[in-house]
Amino acid sequence: MKAIVIGGGIGGTCAAIALKRFGIETAVYEAVKEIKPVGAAISIWPNGVKCLNYLGMKDALRALGGQMRFMAYKEYQQGQTMTRFSMDPLIQSVGEQPYPVARAELQSMLLDTYGRDEVQFGKRVTHVEESADSVTAWFDDGTSATGDLLIAADGTHSVIRQHVLGYATERRYAGYVNWNGLVDIDESIAPADQWTTFVGEGKRVSLMPVSGNRFYFFFDVPLPKGLAEDRATVREDLLRYFAGWAEPVQKLIGMINPETTNRVEIHDIDPFMQLVKGRIALLGDSGHSTTPDIGQGGCAAMEDAVVLANVLQTNSLGIEDALLRYQEKRAYRVKDLVLKARKRCDVTHGKEMAVTEQWYEDLKQETGERILSGMCETILGGPLE
Ligand code: FAD
Repeated sequence: MKAIVIGGGIGGTCAAIALKRFGIETAVYEAVKEIKPVGAAISIWPNGVKCLNYLGMKDALRALGGQMRFMAYKEYQQGQTMTRFSMDPLIQSVGEQPYPVARAELQSMLLDTYGRDEVQFGKRVTHVEESADSVTAWFDDGTSATGDLLIAADGTHSVIRQHVLGYATERRYAGYVNWNGLVDIDESIAPADQWTTFVGEGKRVSLMPVSGNRFYFFFDVPLPKGLAEDRATVREDLLRYFAGWAEPVQKLIGMINPETTNRVEIHDIDPFMQLVKGRIALLGDSGHSTTPDIGQGGCAAMEDAVVLANVLQTNSLGIEDALLRYQEKRAYRVKDLVLKARKRCDVTHGKEMAVTEQWYEDLKQETGERILSGMCETILGGPLE
């Protein structure tokens, strides 16, 4: 059996690693010559960590991951703590800890685990064709690749999605802009072992530790789509959006490097239940594009990879049957994640300000129990115990 994997991001590399582990021949085709991940870092929640453990990257991941022992929300003007609690009950409940990691390092780990030299870069798929017993991907350099099945891990702008669904999907603007990057840890901004989030005015500023004594930071601001982006004014823009916010936030803005700070207009796609067609499977953001509000997009791609490899390995009624089983196992799960993230997004970013204000009030009463139990439920919905 030969699988063609389109896309060498988180989903594509995880799928290729997973299939290879079961002895399935794989070939990975990536559009760009060099992968430059959008975004500085990513939080891998225990459901994603378990997938990477399962795929043989347990030790490598630990070396990259930050230690996030506590979680805290802070009120935006004075920086007073609204709630602070240990993440330990979550770890005890689900059996694994979360790891925030720098994206470039995650991408390197995945490519090295699969075999960097085995990925064909500069191969952008334009369209796919299926026959009774094979599937062919055509690239924009005029070449093609044929296999027994094709895994479309070509991201949120997937060109293969439309072939699978039979219609074009639209990305939906979620209403806010996210700036993210990495800075050296400075404990006058936030403790080194804590996920700290300042909230107010429907905005947020968040810091998570990653390895190498660095914070992954992000700023979210509800804004119209399509504002001019100018790297030269990142700091001025953030100072304006966060005027009157507490001293640690001002200090963070002073520390960021505008050259390496990403600006992303956040989108998702209405969930759909069809993830496969014949010998083609959508995996990762091509199959479920979510806002990052529960940090589960990449984790879901890892879950997809594990489930897909397992159904191909454990079933013997043919590829199309196995892919339908993959769809059956994944469609509700990923729909749930997209909708949960959308709901969280709206509350966090002031879609209805009264609801967001109530959330701020609730945070002042929060012991950690409610937040952690919501996170546990999401995590335990993953495929691995
Ligand atoms: P991608 O990472 O987009 O990879 C797709 C790959 O396919 C790319 O390398 C691309 O070049 C290639 N490609 C595209 N088109 C073609 C083509 N035609 N032919 C060949 N190759 C092609 N997730 C989490 O789990 N935790 C988080 O904390 C988190 N934070 C996030 C923060 C932000 C600001 C954003 C925007 C997202 C976040 N996510 C997070 C989501 C996560 O980044 C995505 O879900 C994940 O990257 C999806 O992986 P993927 O492989 O499906 O897609």
